[in-house]
Amino acid sequence: MKHFDCVVVGGGMVGAASALTMAQLGLRVALVEQFEPEPYSPEQDLDLRVSAISLASQHLLEQVGAWSQVIQWRACPYKRLGVWEQAYAYTEFNADDIEQKQLGHIVENRLLQLALWQEIKTQTNIDLFCPHNLINLSQEESQVSLTLKNITSLSQTNITAKLVIAADGANSHVRKMVDIGITSWDYQQSAMLINVKTEKPQQDITWQKFFSTGPVAFLPLTRAPLAEVGLSEENNAEQGGYASLVWYHQRDEIKRLSALSNQQLQQEVMTAFPKRLGQIEVIAKGSFPLTRRHANSYQSKRVLLLGDAAHTINPMAGQGVNLGFKDVKALQTVIASAIGNGECWHDINVLGRYESMRRKDNLLMMSTMDALYHSFSHPSSIVKTLRNVSLLAISKVPFINTAVKNKALAYACGI
Ligand SMILES: Cc1cc2nc3c(=O)[nH]c(=O)nc-3n(C[C@H](O)[C@H](O)[C@H](O)COP(=O)(O)OP(=O)(O)OC[C@H]3O[C@@H](n4cnc5c(N)ncnc54)[C@H](O)[C@@H]3O)c2cc1C
Repeated sequence: MKHFDCVVVGGGMVGAASALTMAQLGLRVALVEQFEPEPYSPEQDLDLRVSAISLASQHLLEQVGAWSQVIQWRACPYKRLGVWEQAYAYTEFNADDIEQKQLGHIVENRLLQLALWQEIKTQTNIDLFCPHNLINLSQEESQVSLTLKNITSLSQTNITAKLVIAADGANSHVRKMVDIGITSWDYQQSAMLINVKTEKPQQDITWQKFFSTGPVAFLPLTRAPLAEVGLSEENNAEQGGYASLVWYHQRDEIKRLSALSNQQLQQEVMTAFPKRLGQIEVIAKGSFPLTRRHANSYQSKRVLLLGDAAHTINPMAGQGVNLGFKDVKALQTVIASAIGNGECWHDINVLGRYESMRRKDNLLMMSTMDALYHSFSHPSSIVKTLRNVSLLAISKVPFINTAVKNKALAYACGI
């Protein structure tokens, strides 16, 4: 039987990043994942799942050596972020306001995961168990025992760990196995993700317009490596750009939209989205119900929860994976300082520090998203006027502008 310091269950973006940060501390790590990400080729379709990667997340990805690969494949920087409900209260945030080159990058989830995996495969202190499924876990006094099943050969492997990191997503199997409950509710909405080709050239803005039925959002995408984005404007103007559109609406309406052909959906998008979108061609679509979940505890006897296994939030502000990466960084910081101080790094008190660092911050972001969701879906005309006046104040009143806008922007960028 193989013994590891740390076993990470789930090799998505958060789990893969966590395996690398634990390996950086000199620990012996195992990563368990069911499905290997598909290799990259430039002709591949753009992934439907994309994330707005904040500056803080970019720093983590640089630290683990994955970012340079991501930008050699494709990543779309955005410099501006526009939000509005009524045109008069349009508010724009700009990277210049916080002295940065951009606010973040839109990156395809699959490419991000693949770049992390590429780095994992070069590490001598990480063992990759893939395609493996975790089928049993037992928490003992001095270790955790795990049984893995190879999905192809059906053979079983037993391993042990001093610490198990559960990064196995929103419906975390590990969380259920160790009996950690969650507080959750369904937003009455689903989100439809639509990849489109745009008639307009590649853009440097991401925008969101609020309706009482839910927001619609535009995230710029590219098929070019970062170095080529924004170059060759003439060519760009001729070829147009790409984008990921997100359409939030009541579940029945998203169900209806999902059943349409690409051409019919294109007509619906052109009618419902703001005119600034211009002409588009739908190339792919999919939808997800929106659910908020928060684990009642982030740890139970040598098992820790990270990323979506610990929390899922309304994706309205694109913060989901960024919170997961903050979890990853916090855990590495806590364990590094315990090792530095000569403490037992997997002691319950050390692991408790990770939870106290992250719980409040995750809760703050979740509550902010809930407040936005409830405020913008409130039908009252008084509430509607109030929210537009607030946006107007943020946009136009100089004192509020610098005090609130830049602070909010820096927080959203994770700096
Ligand atoms: C509509 C929508 C839009 C979003 N947009 C954004 C955005 O713009 N920005 C952003 O930051 N976030 C966004 N998010 C959230 C983001 O996608 C998630 O927070 C992120 O994918 C979570 O990553 P994760 O690694 O924690 O979990 P996952 O990506 O779910 O990875 C979990 C992994 O665990 C593996 N696994 C599960 N069970 C087992 C098992 N028993 N054994 C082995 N392996 C297992 C799975 O195969 C998977 O690879 C969005 C979410 C939605 C729904």
